[in-house]
This record gives sequence, structure tokens and C-alpha cells, in this order.
Amino acid sequence: MERELILARYGEVFLKGLNRPYFMRALVKNLKKAVADEGADVWLHDGRIFIAGFEDMDRCAEKACRVFGVHSVCPALEMEKDDFGAICRKAAEMCRDLTGTFKVSARRSDKRYPMDSPHINAEVGGAVLDACPNLKVDLHHPDHVLNVEIRDKAYLYVKVLPAVGGMPVGTGGRAALLLSGGIDSPVAGWQIAKRGVRLIAVHYHSYPYTSDRAKEKVLELARIVGACCGGMRVFVVPFTKIQMEIHEKCPEDYTTLIMRRYMMRIAERIARREGAQALVTGESIGQVASQTMEALGVTDAVVDMPVFRPLISFDKSEIIEVARRIGTLETSELPYEDCCTVFTPRHPATHPKMEKAVEAEEMLDSENLIREAVEGAELITV
Ligand code: ATP
Ligand code: MG
Repeated sequence: MERELILARYGEVFLKGLNRPYFMRALVKNLKKAVADEGADVWLHDGRIFIAGFEDMDRCAEKACRVFGVHSVCPALEMEKDDFGAICRKAAEMCRDLTGTFKVSARRSDKRYPMDSPHINAEVGGAVLDACPNLKVDLHHPDHVLNVEIRDKAYLYVKVLPAVGGMPVGTGGRAALLLSGGIDSPVAGWQIAKRGVRLIAVHYHSYPYTSDRAKEKVLELARIVGACCGGMRVFVVPFTKIQMEIHEKCPEDYTTLIMRRYMMRIAERIARREGAQALVTGESIGQVASQTMEALGVTDAVVDMPVFRPLISFDKSEIIEVARRIGTLETSELPYEDCCTVFTPRHPATHPKMEKAVEAEEMLDSENLIREAVEGAELITV
């Protein structure tokens, strides 16, 4: 009996020592979810992850490639190992359309198998050469590697598709992403989720200055990023009152910075309530006035949990490249307004002073403003 299946290879997960079963369980569970609507099943056997039972191998492989923690994906053929002639014939068939150079790489985890790896390499290689006049052997820099694994069955594969890498979602804790409708924050969230972190999102909405379409856009971004990390709870926080108060009572050149400090405070409250241990933003050094080193320092000072800024060293062009790859760019580029663009000062302070920000905030009824915003948050699960 032979059948098509997919071998999923994991990278760093392999390194986790005694915690390895925990990481593997999370990875298998996430893979199962990712390929469920292909009708496929996923299981762990002999240190390998197997996926089988799909209708369309390419589509299923593509989905597996996007699961964090998967390093590469190999569409393979499983067959009985006892009929070595059949293995040779299948190997030749798999190589029929290839050109250039190749080598056979055999691995034998079943040490009782009557042939050792060099012997398998030679025999299978000979069969391929006989059947494929377009191929030559190159043991050092082959264009193609035909892998033959002898386990409780035999597995043959040539293609190794690079996958996303990272760590299985659920193994890295939980963080709250400050999600705007821009290009940066969805990318920041994706980068953190890639390390196995579950996300919740906090979005500030300044109705009626920002529209329902702007909110829809953010929810769509949350859906795209959430699809990679087990979905997302999105908290849409009413921010108009805080912005108006800041606009009325604080020095103009500090308004953006103070607004950002309130965003952080509110996000921290929601994060704690939701069991998240860190905040995530899409800031990068020097991108705008509120992202100079001094401004970031003044922003951070109001919270008492780690703030992750995975894009801190990225150029805009690099961020755009990732956004395109992960599928958020098109949505981010829709031209709806964000609350940050509603009351922008003409000359924001680029070297703000902590004392000045603190002093300006004394004009505001901070505790009530924050409480009202947190209590007014609308929860939408995507
Ligand atoms: P872009 O820079 O592509 O316009 P952005 O999302 O980075 O989009 P910035 O003005 O640079 O927008 O804001 C810096 C960071 O602050 C964002 O990356 C995001 O984490 C957070 N942020 C900004 N606006 C909002 C908002 N309305 N709701 C939640 N977080 C926000
Ligand atoms: Mg930005």
C-alpha cells in the first residue's frame, strides 16, 4: 500500500530539551487546526510529524508551511519497505521530470533493515540514472536530493518547501497588540505571534472623527493576523473624549505624546485583565516625532510591563515587504483615517521632557478618563 503524505519538519522546537513534548503537542494541535478543512489528519510518530488524508497535497502543504513552528514541509510518498525493487521504481518515477544533477540521501532509522544507507544510496541512485537520462550524479552540490527514509515504512521525497519557522503559538505567553489601521502594527503583531505568542488587540477609535469603515478595516487586519495565531479578541476602545481633553488642555507640541501615553495605560489595564504579560507596538526609531528615542522613553514610563517593538530597527520599506508577504498590506493601504491623524500638532516635540508631560497631564482627570475608556471598550472576537 502506498499513499501521499506530508512530513512537517520543525526547527527550534527540536532544541527544547525536557520541554520538548509540550512544544510538540502545541505544534501538532495547531497543525491539526490549520489543515482541518482539507480533511487531513496530523500525528506525531517516531519524532516526525505526519499529515495525511488530504484531498489536495499542494494546498495542504501550503497551509502547513504557514503554521508557526514548522520549519519545512516535504510532500512525500509512503510505501512498504520490504519490496526494495518497488522503492527503486518509485524513486525513478519521482525523478522523471527533473533535470541537472542529483544525489540520493538515505536514512535508516530501522537498523534491522537488510541494507545500510550507502548501499541504499547506490542502488536507488543506479535505478534513477538508468531511468532518467537527463540526470547526472553530483554528491557535493546536487540540484536535487532524493531522500529515502527507512522507518516502519519507507518515505521518499525530493521537494523540501521552506516554511515560516518560529515557535508554536501558545507556547510563548500572551501579549496585547496596539493595533491601528496602518501598515506597521499588523506586521509587529505577526512578528511576535511567530515566536509562539497569543495576541489580543487593542484599537483606539475616535468616533465620529474616525468612521465605521476605519474600524472595519482594523478588524479585517486583526482577522488576517489572527488567522496565524488562533484568532484574536479585539478591544475597540472609545478614545474621542481623551483626545478632546488633551487637545483642549495640553500644550500642542505634547499632544501626540500624551495621547500615546494614554494608549499605553489603557492597553496595560486591558492586558492585565486578559492575562497578557506584555504590550506590542509597531514603532520604529525615528519614524515619526513620537518615535524618537526620548519620546519612546517618555511613552514607556507610564506602564509597568515589557513593551515589545519588533520593528524598532526596520526601515519602512522592510516593513512593507513583510506586510505584503503576510497579506496585510492591501488592507492597510485602504485610505481610512486613524485617531492619530485626527488632531495632529503642527510641530510635535521630538525631544520631549518627562516632567513636562507629567505636568501637562495634571490638567486631566486621568483616572476617570482611563476607567471610562476601559469600561467602554467593545469586545469583538475575530
Ligand atoms: P503607520 O505608521 O503605518 O501609519 P502605525 O500603525 O505604525 O501605522 P503610528 O502612528 O506610527 O501608526 O503609531 C505607532 C504605533 O502606535 C502603532 O504601530 C500602533 O502600535 C500604535 N497605534 C497607533 N494608533 C493606534 C490606534 N488607533 N489604536 C491602537 N494602537 C495604535
Ligand atoms: Mg508607524
